[in-house]
Order: sequence, then C-alpha cells, then structure tokens
Amino acid sequence: MTLVMKFGGTSVGDAAAVAATAVLIQRAQAAGQTVVVVVSAMGSQPVKVTDLLLAGVDADELRAIHATAVDALLDPDGERQAVLAEMEAILARYAGLRRAGEVLGELTPRALDAIAGMGEQMSARLLAAYLRQTGTRAQAVDATELIVTDDRFGAASPLWPETETRVGERLRPLLAAGVIPVVTGFIGATKAGVTTTLGRGGSDFSAAILGRALRADEVWIWTDVDGVQTADPRLVAGTQTIPQLTYREVAELAYYGAKVLHPQTIRPCLESGIPLRVKNTFNPAHPGTLIVPDAPTSNGAGLKAVTAVKELSLITVAGKGMLGVPGMAMRAFGAVALAQAHLLLISQASSEQSICFATQMQAAQPVIERLRHEFAPELRRRDLDGITAQGDMAIVTVVGKGLQRQPLLTGQVLTALGRRQVNVVALAQGATDCSLSLVVRGGDTETAVAGIHHLLVGHES
Ligand code: ADP
Ligand code: MG
Repeated sequence: MTLVMKFGGTSVGDAAAVAATAVLIQRAQAAGQTVVVVVSAMGSQPVKVTDLLLAGVDADELRAIHATAVDALLDPDGERQAVLAEMEAILARYAGLRRAGEVLGELTPRALDAIAGMGEQMSARLLAAYLRQTGTRAQAVDATELIVTDDRFGAASPLWPETETRVGERLRPLLAAGVIPVVTGFIGATKAGVTTTLGRGGSDFSAAILGRALRADEVWIWTDVDGVQTADPRLVAGTQTIPQLTYREVAELAYYGAKVLHPQTIRPCLESGIPLRVKNTFNPAHPGTLIVPDAPTSNGAGLKAVTAVKELSLITVAGKGMLGVPGMAMRAFGAVALAQAHLLLISQASSEQSICFATQMQAAQPVIERLRHEFAPELRRRDLDGITAQGDMAIVTVVGKGLQRQPLLTGQVLTALGRRQVNVVALAQGATDCSLSLVVRGGDTETAVAGIHHLLVGHES
C-alpha cells in the first residue's frame, strides 16, 4: 500500500517534534507501507519559518532556529556538518535575494516564491538526515523536481501530465529501492524550472498532488490537532473531532476559513478516489478524521462544523433604476474579476435592484473603482443609487450534509444568533447542499461561532 504522509509545521517545529515524526514514518514503514513524506517548514506556534522568510528577517534568526534543531538531532560525527553546510548554502541564497530586493526597493513575486520555499528545503534535509541516522533509508527531494506548475507565483496550479511524468521518473525508482522520499511541501517549479509556491498552507495540496500522481492508497495529513474539529479550537472551547466528513463538506470548511486543510487539497484526492485522513502527530493513537466520497443516502444529515473568515468587505450595488434590467449581475461580477478579487458569497434580491457580495477587505477599494467605472452611465443617470462597501465583516459558515432537506436546521442557526444579539447582514445557502453562510460584523464573529457551535455539539450528543 502506498501512503503519502504530510507533516505540518508543528510536526517538525523543534527537535522533539522531528523525532516524533520520524517514529511515525518508521512505524508506517514497519507496518509494510510504501511511504512518501511531504514536509512543511519548521513552525512551532506562533513562529513559522515561512512567515519569517517572507518578513525578511535576518539570516541569523533562521540559522539559529535550524541549527538548534540540527545540533539536538544529528550526530557531530555523522551528517551534522553536511546538513549545516546545505542549510548555509540556502541561507546564502536567501541573503542574496534579500539584498537584491533592498537594491530594487521590492521583491518580485518570483523572488518571493524562491524565498518562501526555503523553509521546506531546510526541514526536508533535516528530517531525511535524521531518518538515515536512525536507520531508515531516506532522501530529501525538492518538489521543484516533481511538481510542474503554471507561473502564477504565489498561487500556482499543477500541470498534470508533466507532474505525473516527473513524479514517476523521480520517485518510483526510490520507492522501488526502499528509500523514503522526503519531499518539500508548498513548492513546485514552472516548466522552465523557476520555483513557484502553491499558496499558504499549500503543503497539504502538495501531498494530494503526489498522492494522485502516484495513485497512492491514502493521503494522511499529520497536524497538531485530533483531526478536523467541530470549530477552530483556537476560537471555541470544547470542540470535538468529526470522525467522518465527505469531500464536499470538508471543501466547504476549508474554503470558508478552517485552516486545518488547504482548500485545494481535496480535488486531487476526490478525482482519484483517494481517502484522506487528518491525524495528530502529538496523539497518533487518536483515529482523527477520515474524509470519504459523498454518501449516496441522506443518512447522517445534520450540522457538523462551523467556521469563519474575517476581514471581509460586503459590497452593495443598488438602485431602483436597475429593476428588471438584465445583465447587471454579469457586469458586476465581471468588474470583480477584473479587479482580481475573490467572491466569497453573493446575495441578490429577486427584483435585481440590489446585489451584494463579500470579498477580501484589501480588495474592496480596487473592486469599487472597477464597479464605478463599469456602471458610470447608470450612476450618472441615477439609475444606481450607489456602490457602497461595509468593511470589517465576517462570513460564518455552518457545514453539514442535507441542510436543504432539514428545514429546521436553518431556523435553529438563525435563532441561535438572534438570541445572542448577532445581526445577520446577508445570507447564502444553496449552491451546495451542505453549507449555510452568514455575513456578520467582524466583532460578532466569536459570539456567532460559539453560539452555532453550542447548537451543533448539542445536536451530535
Ligand atoms: P499545519 O502546519 O500542520 O498544516 P495548520 O496551522 O495549517 O497546521 O493547521 C492546523 C490548525 O488549524 C490547528 O492547530 C487549528 O488551530 C486550526 N483549525 C482551524 N479550524 C479548524 C478545525 N475546524 N479543525 C481543526 N483545526 C482547525
Ligand atoms: Mg496547514
């Protein structure tokens, strides 16, 4: 059985975590699995190496974090010096790119991607060396050799045929020889070999991409919580593990802010029918969460989890003169696309006289400018009353199969918020049968999430 195991930042956050991770890898191999490892940059909460790299900290700070772990884990008579030397080479490139950025005044997206992936390049070398030292054949592999992507720096997408070929050529011989590849998460490279990244949290996606390319039997995401929880444990006390979720449910959760899984992770697994598991490195005996195909029956309907995305703007385009005028939505969304903003939620009254939608707060200004340009004639004629934005909003999303078939659930959610004096500014349900999204004021997020969480934990027990 081929198993892709991805270890997140905390799973390699310090020497003790790296050692625990190595034990999990060795156990899987001892149990007869063919193991492929994907690793994130070191990230003991709240300091994440990737954040430090992007913040442009001094190379000494990065050296200190990594050298401390290397000294604690690797024998001075073994690979310690060799690994430190490889890290020095990476840090020298980092310092060089930073200096270039200072000269130019800013770093290009391309240079930022080269920098952002350096944490993975260091952690993969450390973990592979430690595995070797503890008797396991392992080799660090840069995903720039495996995952071929387009050139959207910062949020690149894999090119499938090329990626499959490269993964096959590079990893299959290692696996056949009993060597565990320790692959850098988060990064890939264009056809021309320029380093790209798959977006923040993208190591989960890397694991799913390799899983699909290798036709793996399962992909396991190892993190620092007991699987996917009923809510963000940092936001709500008393969350519970969700033993099973469908791909669709977890996709909604990830898209609407549950950081536990990168939103794009689901697709490669779904498309090749690979079960996905989320497990806790620091509590491996816990079964965690299993993510499975959508069940054909409606059994198990109910609320499963609640999540939130903050720092959004709700933009409204409204005007009585727009009553029944066709094409307004198309023009509005076209303007949003031109501003390269994401639409997280759309709500429209049936009369077409107003449309409102949520987008990231930092995108609000460019979106409004585009909209004013697009609707300039209507604004002049006063067919449109105005284009307005309310900042500091949040979307709270409840996920659970069969929301549409359970009329009481929506009512219960709204009642839970009403009782806590939370105003629902806009609402959307229906695009999928498994989520309900509510726009609330940013300051109400915690209250709203806690209120809904109370309801859904009550439901389950
Ligand atoms: P990793 O480095 O392992 O990828 P992340 O920080 O990206 O770790 O993701 C794990 C974190 O996601 C958890 O520590 C938790 O705080 C947060 N999180 C947010 N929502 C959820 C949820 N619904 N279930 C589990 N974890 C969640
Ligand atoms: Mg993550």
